[in-house]
Amino acid sequence: MSPPNATPRDRLRIAIQKSGRLADPARALLASCGLSWRESRDRLFCYGETLPVDLLLVRDDDIPGLIADGVCDLGVVGRNVMTEQDGERRAAGKPTAYRELRALGFGDCRLALAVPEGWEWKSPRQLDGMRIATSYPALLSQWLADEGVSAEVVLLSGSVEIAPRLGQADAICDLVSSGATLAANQLKPVATLFESEAVLAGPVHEFDAARGELASMLLRRLDGALRIRHSKLLMFQAERASLPALLPLLPDAEAPTVMQIDGADHLALQALCHGAVTWQRLEELKRAGASGLMVLPVEGMLA
Ligand code: ATP
Ligand code: ZN
Repeated sequence: MSPPNATPRDRLRIAIQKSGRLADPARALLASCGLSWRESRDRLFCYGETLPVDLLLVRDDDIPGLIADGVCDLGVVGRNVMTEQDGERRAAGKPTAYRELRALGFGDCRLALAVPEGWEWKSPRQLDGMRIATSYPALLSQWLADEGVSAEVVLLSGSVEIAPRLGQADAICDLVSSGATLAANQLKPVATLFESEAVLAGPVHEFDAARGELASMLLRRLDGALRIRHSKLLMFQAERASLPALLPLLPDAEAPTVMQIDGADHLALQALCHGAVTWQRLEELKRAGASGLMVLPVEGMLA
């Protein structure tokens, strides 16, 4: 197998996290778009088998830079990391080099400001003159500027949540999903600076023809995969007269396909539902006149 740098550039190269929270879901999502790979022995590079789309397995923090440098064409990374690094680039006078192409619906978290549990929190102005520890200096500085607060940003690369106990800072600004880590460190979240999830990032420029075509195909498949991720195909039968009662129970469905069976008034319907199809909903449909209800998983979709 060729090493990444010798790969001809008519292949598309996607950077994903090697290990961590985004690694498995990123790979699963790309696999659901019909991609498969042969992995190199050092587990850093996966050679695309079904399509000329290769994976580079890296630390998530390296992904925006790899796209900016043109080493990779696309990347799956937290919006937090992408936006922070964009802010840092702009603070250093560099132009924006990447953009969010799709939100991917996993890796949800938020960047929150947290203060010691004993503080009575009234407003961001309380932070004037304080030290705030974070790994997100650009996002924090921007928020402080927006709030008109003058505080010292203490840059830490990890273990931000213990900084107040160690006397390194008065408050912190860190990623939170459940809040359990904050509570374990006697901190409480008081403000959300940024909402994040995993995104597909790409360069600001257009691709050349060969990679552009591959990228468009991948995006089309990705849109299909994202759309059907929670979708089910609902099939049932009903009398035509029941339709006005049934259709309002399908607000998340695409226009149902209606087939006539046994004469004009008896119908077979199928509807692609994008929300949860629960037992309760099936019972409501039954009460409204549906019969023979069947819920089927959706394997693929191409609009
Ligand atoms: P790497 O070795 O790749 O640098 P890491 O320690 O930076 O790994 P993870 O902890 O796996 O990375 O987090 C990766 C991304 O997962 C974060 O940047 C964020 O977008 C997302 N994420 C979701 N929930 C959380 C959370 N509770 N804490 C931290 N990150 C989270
Ligand atoms: Zn990281």
